[in-house]
Amino acid sequence: MAITIFSLSSCNKKQCAEQQPQATESLPWIIDRFDDIKVLRYEVPGFEQLPLNQKVLIYYLSQATKCGRDILFDQNFKYNLTVRRTLEQIYSAYEGDKQETNFKAMEKYLKKVWFANGIHHHYSNDKFRPEFSQEWFSAQVDKYVKELPIEKQLLLDIIFDKELFAVRLNQTDGVDMVKESACNYYEGVTMAEVEKFYADMVDSKDPRPISYGLNSKLIKDNDGKIVERTWKVGGMYSAAIEQIVFWLEKAAQVAEEPQKSIINALVNYYRTGDLREFDRYNVLWVGDNTSNVDFVNGFIEDYGDPLGRKASWEGTVNFMDSTACRRTQIIAANAQWFEDNAPINPAFRKKEVKGVSAKVITVAMLGGDCYPATPIGINLPNADWIRKEYGSKSVTIDNITYAYDKAAQGNGFNEEFMLREEDRARIAEHGKLGDDLHTDLHECLGHGSGQLAPGVKGGELKSYTSTLEEARADLFGLYYLGDPKMVEIGLIPSLDVAKAQYADYIMNGMMTQFARIELGKNVEEAHMRNRKLIAEWCYEKGKKDNVIEWVKQDGKSYIVVNDFEALRKLFGELLFEVQRIKSTGDYEAGRKLVEDYAVKIDPELHKEVLERYGKLGIEPYSGFVNPDYELVEQDGKIVDVKLIPKTDYIEQMLHYSAEWSFLPSIN
Ligand code: ZN
Repeated sequence: MAITIFSLSSCNKKQCAEQQPQATESLPWIIDRFDDIKVLRYEVPGFEQLPLNQKVLIYYLSQATKCGRDILFDQNFKYNLTVRRTLEQIYSAYEGDKQETNFKAMEKYLKKVWFANGIHHHYSNDKFRPEFSQEWFSAQVDKYVKELPIEKQLLLDIIFDKELFAVRLNQTDGVDMVKESACNYYEGVTMAEVEKFYADMVDSKDPRPISYGLNSKLIKDNDGKIVERTWKVGGMYSAAIEQIVFWLEKAAQVAEEPQKSIINALVNYYRTGDLREFDRYNVLWVGDNTSNVDFVNGFIEDYGDPLGRKASWEGTVNFMDSTACRRTQIIAANAQWFEDNAPINPAFRKKEVKGVSAKVITVAMLGGDCYPATPIGINLPNADWIRKEYGSKSVTIDNITYAYDKAAQGNGFNEEFMLREEDRARIAEHGKLGDDLHTDLHECLGHGSGQLAPGVKGGELKSYTSTLEEARADLFGLYYLGDPKMVEIGLIPSLDVAKAQYADYIMNGMMTQFARIELGKNVEEAHMRNRKLIAEWCYEKGKKDNVIEWVKQDGKSYIVVNDFEALRKLFGELLFEVQRIKSTGDYEAGRKLVEDYAVKIDPELHKEVLERYGKLGIEPYSGFVNPDYELVEQDGKIVDVKLIPKTDYIEQMLHYSAEWSFLPSIN
């Protein structure tokens, strides 16, 4: 599971980051912007200080991470590589005026294709609309492209015909989602055929079920037989997978146990395509909590398949952020105290809290479905039986959230939406720490806290489960952030950190998060609903004492917190109630809370927020370029690995397409 955010300032769950040595502070954080996208760079603090063998390990794993880019392009849509390569050929060879409207529009389109790893928007899944003319493009193809792997008319239709391959992922109830989705996980088969094919495979009694279909494309062969084309060495995508394996084997040579065996298990899986081997690898991987360097490499997340079975290729390389980990260690060490003092009915408190762990990591390379758009947190593996028997690894990526925060500074967001100078000053000073701690408390303790009453199974709250669960975890974090205990155990310098977080949270929940929602629509997403629920509930309950107040100034609406102590008490009261609802499975009370406070947006306010946000010109989506790494050798021996910051989006994309591209255009 991947945790993602939007780059909406102050709407970010994790907005900032602390400390971080800054070697390249003078470089800009935002290095490109186009359409609804901004491209940032991230830094890799602490890399230089790593021991040589870890640097070399990161280098080899990073090389492996760059090898799978073409796989994702092809998975997203059968003709993506053809389109990308055609555009790149024209772009690189073009001899005309580069300021000309058509060329500029094609450049923008190409930037979007690189960003989305294909011709469909990475988030909305809709096909991009070119802003250059078909006639102009057709002439450039004739002039600059020597060989097309498909008919030219088909290429033109793919780019210009609005109806053809219109969406990458169609999950509308009642349609044949396989036929109506442009992604390349199935060909020549209907949704019913896919479902039957896999239903016949599954052994429903197996307590350790295999994730059938995870690493293959399902097609109908020439004889009309339905078969899988497996992604492995010797199978589909072999040319790219061989390269991945080559670099993984190099990595295994320098890795220490248990990591050596883990990498070898992954190599074996890539060679055989055997999903049991993938499970074996995951069990080993999740058990390794000691290696400082860690990685993800493989067919991991199934968000891109309408049926949620096929996994897209992704990769990351990272190492532990020991400074930030100290923070989560303090929290873990005090876990029982937090549980024993939670403002909930003692009957619903956990008697014994165990297994609290969360790592903060620094990412060193992003690839496949984590590039350029990347999650800020990862929780793997995905197989339920492994999670149940062996647990999962949960990480937050600090250098990415740090870069988001840096890029958001000075974009005018807080000035526009936050009325009081004192609140803005507290955010500037403590915003990052408050955000990080709230996330830590939410993740490490909040979700794991509390227990169900005897006889309650969970699941009683049905479609309101996630919203109420997120509210429970958020409330746990908010309540404790303002506890003097936080100062006592050295997590915060003063309760100003809580004040900064409270003001930001209420503003986001009642107002600024609506900037992400289309006018006329309700709040649907669970995290967003939870924030609105908490903020609105506290507003209403504290109304008689003016705890939270709407202020109108110069025709603009602002929401301000007047009494932080009283607000904290309200967080505690709501936590008491939400915990009761969960522990007793009180569906009706849960439904009412969500429907009354979390769903409907006042249309006047919504319109105002959208207008004010729109004027700031902040792109809603962000992604990153990677740094580069170079081996330093002396007398045939590796003596160091050099980190080279990169700040040119186009250059990186063209470089990857030239040097890290191994697949044919049609696979
Ligand atoms: Zn959560």
